[in-house]
Amino acid sequence: MQDNFGRDINYLRVSVIDRCNLNCLYCMPEGGVPLRSYREIISFEEIAAVVKVAVAEFGFKKVRLTGGEPLMRRDIVKLVAMLAAIEGLEEVVMTTNGILLKQYAVDLARAGLARVNISLDSIDEKRFAAITRGGNLLDVYRGIDAALAAGLTSLKINCVIAAGQLASGNHDGLAVQSYVADRWPGVEVRFIQQMDFVHGDFAPVIGGVAGECRTCNRLRLLSDGKILPCLFSDQTFDVRHLGAREALLQAIKHKPKCGLPCAAKWMVSVGG
Ligand code: SAM
Ligand code: SF4
Repeated sequence: MQDNFGRDINYLRVSVIDRCNLNCLYCMPEGGVPLRSYREIISFEEIAAVVKVAVAEFGFKKVRLTGGEPLMRRDIVKLVAMLAAIEGLEEVVMTTNGILLKQYAVDLARAGLARVNISLDSIDEKRFAAITRGGNLLDVYRGIDAALAAGLTSLKINCVIAAGQLASGNHDGLAVQSYVADRWPGVEVRFIQQMDFVHGDFAPVIGGVAGECRTCNRLRLLSDGKILPCLFSDQTFDVRHLGAREALLQAIKHKPKCGLPCAAKWMVSVGG
């Protein structure tokens, strides 16, 4: 369905969990964020119901599973299968930190996951551990190998870079790019400017299509059942109160022309 600015809104990002097995500096505070109780977290049935309405009534074509870390959600493969079976939905994809991919890649591919984006900010083991507050870089490499071996071949690497460093043209992403080109030829690396909600600071993904308000086609379903029309917005529409149809409709109608400075929030709670 078109929004008030002529944009065809057809892409739903679903944050399936607010927990993560990493603790990236730019995504969450050191002690973590206040967590939703498991009772509050949206069930697979609720997610599938929203996606069915989004596809059948509003013409959505694509769903991306994100988090927190989507592979931390118990039985995530089952959710992928449930969504992949929805008639009219063209693609179910995922953004993950890759740590658990080695364990899940084959089952995810079998369940119908079309593609995966993996976050990787540095190829220096110490820098990686510092950025993620304790992550093991080799786990991500194993995850990438496993995804490719499982047939998830149109894999993309997301690399977050501080705005100043991106502008200077000298940043960790360049080493990531050449390492990836060498070890996994054909895998695309995209640079994402580190965002700042309070200052309304965001920019288009370099090598991608996100972050461009004029062509933004997405809504976000958060892990507490609220739909966020824009990452840089404070307004949400609760599918549990309004019902899926009305929440989706209101979110499309209230999608702002462009993101604006908004309340401080952590990316781990909204899914990027
Ligand atoms: N845990 C998964 C992962 O890291 O890929 C999925 C959730 S994570 C919030 C989704 C994406 O948001 C990741 O690519 C991450 O690097 C990015 N991200 C997190 N905080 C960010 C920030 N402040 N600015 C820009 N991107 C951010
Ligand atoms: Fe976790 Fe992803 Fe956020 Fe890092 S970017 S803390 S991996 S949710």
